[in-house]
Amino acid sequence: MKHNFSAGPSILPKEVFQQASDGILNFNDLELSVLEISHRSKDFVEVLDRSVALVKDLLNLPDTHKPLFLTGGASSQFFMAPMNLLAASDTAHYVDTGSWSTKAIKEAKLYGEVNVLASSKEDKFSYIPKDYAKPTSGTYLHLTSNNTIYGTQYAEFPESAIPIVCDMSSDIFSRPIDPDAFGLIYAGAQKNMGPAGTTLVIVNEEMLGKVDRDIPTMLDYRTHIKKNSAFNTPPVFPIYVSMLVMEWVQKNGGVKMMQQRNEEKADLMYGEIDRNPLFRGVAAKEDRSKMNATFILNNAELEEHFLQACKKANCVGLKGHRSVGGFRASMYNALPIESVRVLVEVMQEFEGTHG
Ligand code: PMP
Repeated sequence: MKHNFSAGPSILPKEVFQQASDGILNFNDLELSVLEISHRSKDFVEVLDRSVALVKDLLNLPDTHKPLFLTGGASSQFFMAPMNLLAASDTAHYVDTGSWSTKAIKEAKLYGEVNVLASSKEDKFSYIPKDYAKPTSGTYLHLTSNNTIYGTQYAEFPESAIPIVCDMSSDIFSRPIDPDAFGLIYAGAQKNMGPAGTTLVIVNEEMLGKVDRDIPTMLDYRTHIKKNSAFNTPPVFPIYVSMLVMEWVQKNGGVKMMQQRNEEKADLMYGEIDRNPLFRGVAAKEDRSKMNATFILNNAELEEHFLQACKKANCVGLKGHRSVGGFRASMYNALPIESVRVLVEVMQEFEGTHG
């Protein structure tokens, strides 16, 4: 068995792969594949309806908050969110916690005033800035919940007088949230939700209709709310598999249980990083991500040896992002704690050999 620590696309539950394979061959006993039926057929409309219901249920959403399954990746939300929400004369506030936030900031500037409240760039994005005056006016406050590359995460979201717009691409469904604090949430599917190809957007309807620019039909959230994410042909397979993953989350105790499992995995992983004299964590302790643990070897010359040792133990996907280097152990919802145990053993054996 491989222990898959890939940052994304990343591990999904084994049983979901089996179910998805069944759906490709014979969906709902139709003797047809889920890939070859109309997206307007009763069977597929049920998939869409169930997916929306699962998002609402898992995150406890009020009726104002509409889940949408869109295309274009989380990267398209960098511009779609300000295009739909931010009037040209208004201000949006951003906290810059790494390259995904930086990209979001760049796109928002196309649509309105952008105020960068704080940035941890000067410290290689190794922490989450907290010491800044919270905005009292403006359209929204944009945060990146989990910084996949740097291994930092908001342990708690700041109190905000204005709605938060949040990129939750790499920690959606990993813990409970207070939906009322969020005007908009977006997440590319390919970490905790499903295969690449769809992006979950949860938008509070009350945020919409306040800009007077012309918005192309396909880029207008209202189009997709009205048409239940089927204005055009939606990405049927990513949505179908996302539904199966959400069913798996629900069956396994919902986001509360995911949080508990993720904390156990993170404690084990960071415990070893801190104990083992060969290794060092990269992110500030209080901001450490439960999803992506970033760490380095004090002796960088041993890097290749360590990756080889991991590979021998069937631990894969551990190379750090090219912009940061070192290692990154991604521990998304579907990663069993046994995989973390195996990696910890590899680190301990490595200490025995090279310490
Ligand atoms: N935001 C975050 C936090 C990410 O980790 C990523 C990368 N998966 C993105 C945005 C970009 O996502 P996509 O590739 O779906 O555009």
